This record gives sequence, C-alpha cells and structure tokens, in this order.
Amino acid sequence: MNLAQLLVRAARLFPDRPALFHGEDLICDYRQLGERAARIAGYLARDCGLEPGERVALFMGNVPEYLELFYGIWYAGLVAVPINAKLHPREAQYIIEDAGAAVVFATPDLACALQPLTAQMPAVRQLLCVGNADYEQVYGGRPLAARDRLADDLAWLFYTSGTTGRPKGVMLTHRNLRTMLACHFTDVADSAPEDCALYAAPISHGAGMGNFPHMLVGGRHVVARSSNFDPAEIVRLAAVHRNVFMFAAPTMVKRLAEHVEASGADPSGFKTVLYGGGPMYLEDIRHALRVMGNRFVQIYGQGETPMTITALSRRQLADHRHPRYLERIASVGVAQSMVEVRVTAEDGRDLPEGEVGEILVRGDTVMQGYWNNPEATDKAIRNGWLYTGDMGCFDADGFLTLKDRSKDMIISGGSNIYPREIEEVLLLHPGVHEVSVVGRKHVDWGEEVVAFVVARPGASVSAAELDALCLDHIARFKRPKHYRVIEALPKSNYGKVLKTRLREMLDQEAPAT
Ligand code: AMP
Repeated sequence: MNLAQLLVRAARLFPDRPALFHGEDLICDYRQLGERAARIAGYLARDCGLEPGERVALFMGNVPEYLELFYGIWYAGLVAVPINAKLHPREAQYIIEDAGAAVVFATPDLACALQPLTAQMPAVRQLLCVGNADYEQVYGGRPLAARDRLADDLAWLFYTSGTTGRPKGVMLTHRNLRTMLACHFTDVADSAPEDCALYAAPISHGAGMGNFPHMLVGGRHVVARSSNFDPAEIVRLAAVHRNVFMFAAPTMVKRLAEHVEASGADPSGFKTVLYGGGPMYLEDIRHALRVMGNRFVQIYGQGETPMTITALSRRQLADHRHPRYLERIASVGVAQSMVEVRVTAEDGRDLPEGEVGEILVRGDTVMQGYWNNPEATDKAIRNGWLYTGDMGCFDADGFLTLKDRSKDMIISGGSNIYPREIEEVLLLHPGVHEVSVVGRKHVDWGEEVVAFVVARPGASVSAAELDALCLDHIARFKRPKHYRVIEALPKSNYGKVLKTRLREMLDQEAPAT
C-alpha cells in the first residue's frame, strides 16, 4: 500500500521515458528518478537513522527535487511534512516542532533563514540545503528498496493554513491518498502517458497531489522555473510540452485567461486545467471557457479530505444547452465517486434540496485526524463524518452550491448573508476586477456588509453604480453599506483571498454605529 510503489512500478515499466523537467530542461528519466528516490531513502534510513513513521519536513519553493524527496521519504516508510514556502521561518519552526520532524530539507534562501532557529529545535538532526553541494550527499547512500507500509500508516502531514489559530497537522494516510488517486481517474481526468503534469501552483499543496496520476501512467512532470505564478511562462511551457494537466487556484485561472486573451496565445497545449481551493466566480469561469475553450474541471476539497468532496466535470462545464447550465457551472458539481456528502442542519438533520447547511463528508479520503490534537479531531470528525465548516445546498440533481465557510457568513439584523452571492453581483460591473465582501461589527445590526473592490486598470467604479447593480439583483438588506476601493486584495500563497486580513483592517477602525 506504500505510495512509493507508484514510482517503483513506473521505473520498471517505463525506465526510459522522460520523467522530470525544470522548465524546458530534462532532468531525468523514470529509471533515474526511481534510483534517486531509492538513494535518498537509503540516506534517510541509514545515514540519518530514521525509522518508519518518522517525519521529514520540506520547507521549499517549487523545485524539481520536490518529487524525488517525496518518493525518497515514502520509499523509507517516512512521513512527508511539506510546508508552505511563503511562511515566516518562525511559522515553519512551529510546524517542524509540532510535527517532530527529524530531518528538514529547505531551498537555499529558506535554509539560511531557518538555520539559526534549528539550534532551538533539539529534535532536528539535519537541515539540508536543497540545491547546494551539501545536498549531493543524499545520492551517496546505498539504494533502499521501498519499505512495506500499511494502508493506515501516515504518508503526508498537511498543515492547514491556520487563518484561525495555529496550523493543525492533517494526518493523511497511504489509503487516503490512494483513494484520492482513484477519484482522479473516475471524477476528474483521463490522464494518459503522453500527458504532462505542470506544477504552476505550490507543490506543498494541491498541485503536489496532482503528481500521483501522472506517476501511475508514466507521464512527464514539469516544474515551472518562476517561483510565483507567471501566466506568460505557463502558456509558453504548455505550448512546448503539450497535453498539459495543471492544478490552479481560481485567481490563477483568471490571470491565465486574461493573459491568453490579451496576448492572443494559443491555449491548445493545455489539456486539463483543474481549479479549486477557493470560489470561482461565474463571470470568471465563463470568460475562461470563452477564451481557452473546454479544458476545465473543478474540484472542491479541503486538506482534511484532499481534492475529494465534489467535482464539476469537463462535460458538465461544456453542456451549454442544459436548462440550468449557469446554475450548474456556478456550483462545485456532484459528490465524487469514493465519498458520501450530506448537507445538515445544526441539529444533525439532513436538509432538503435548496436549504443551506453544513457540508459533511465520509469516505476513505477523510483524514485520520489532526496530529497530536484529539480535541480538534473530535470536533472535526463525529460519528465517522467530517464536518467541513463549509455551508452549501444541493439542487434536485445533486449539484452542490457552496455558500461560504460558516465563519465568513455575515449575520446582519438576524439574517444570514452569504458574501459570495454579493461578490458575484459586483463582478458583473465591467470596471470591477476583483472583489471581496466581509462583515464588520455594528452596534445595532450585529454586523454590516462591507465590500472591498479592486478596479480594472484605467476603470472608475463608483459606490452609486455598485449600489444600483445590487438593487437590480439582490435583496436590499444584503447590499454593502460601504465600498472600499483598494489596490489589491490580500492573498495567501495559494491565491486565496484572506478575508481574515480584511476583517482585521475593519476591526482596527472604530465600530460602526
Ligand atoms: P484547504 O484546506 O487550504 O485546501 O482549504 C479548503 C477550503 O477551501 C474548503 O473548505 C473551502 O472553503 C474552500 N474551497 C475548496 N475548493 C473550493 C471550490 N471549488 N470552491 C469554493 N471554495 C473551495
């Protein structure tokens, strides 16, 4: 059941196929990739003395070594702890210590910043700088054959972004990730040997999880050279490599489609662009489909059941003639084939179609729990169901529409207001580039609605126009009471808008009366 078997198998079955590229440059074939992973495993097991189940942290930007390290760790029966490269070294220190990682790999800039802190981390036996001569020693060990692992052994500790409180380590097992892999082929894409997985978003997150299907079929893996998402580079790499599969946050899809439209580039090198991880607005997906064609698939998931709650397929995104086409493409699709999904009221009752409640998930993709945190685990998993904290409703055909995370919902004058609904309306204004709606404390109403708006370059957007648009589309009480035009929305490394940051900005001001 060890995930390492994916590479063991590929190295035997297609040894000469090109496996890994950095930009346009070939790094190694499958034989060499398997050999490197086995040597890294030998180094970790023998030279560092790590026993199966121990943790190895990866504090790295997107570099080609990411893949050989993942598999080296799994060959040795260890647990990978990928850390978001945009975190502050002190935040990384918290994760390394919480996970009890014994070895840390870091890219040069991050390794420099981390080095003084490792003195305060007695559990860390080695900090290795990836890309330095120092790193070469990992290839020096005798190759280790992939160790046996059981389905419920841990493979990946996935740290949540921790927008509320400290990040928590989501325990993902070999079974969880193998089931996710099965869902890829049933619900997402028909990945094939001629395909190319392009890593354009952080490998520490969803993009890294996109490696499994392509390892299984012996496709190519291409790590983009720029550390931040650069649409021009991504379009160029897709034209060179062809048959590209790529995971992207919705904000990246928007930038990609805008680039393709403005430059007139040919998007035919993209086979599948998988988007998810945050809301995709209706106007944005319609634009992307118009400009780039039918190359998109959506997934909805969370670290606790990675990539696997629902999917909106390529076929559904192309089904223009369906009477409820627009509602469908504004939804997150239908439950994936290996999970069960429910929408429930606070008292645990299943809600009928059209009624909004919390989304619950059960299946072999759901995490084992949070690392060393039984209280948080008991809150998140009850009677075998994962409580996602997301609100949504089903339609009659089983399409799930996400409202917002329960913590983002605004309660004003006793009414529930879902920011997403207002954001969709404001985006209809041609001058609006991006928007995010949050609640601000109000002495009489509890909360009031505030919209942060980013205008398109050269466009002007007035509060009166936006208000008129809202009056045309939504109930009066949902209209924002204030509009703030700002330069850019605060975003995480994964391209998600940080609503917490926007709320903090408002909290620092005097409460509204
Ligand atoms: P993370 O665990 O960091 O991947 O964040 C997961 C959260 O992102 C989910 O609980 C949702 O709130 C949000 N999310 C994920 N996929 C989607 C999607 N397709 N549409 C809207 N929100 C999403």
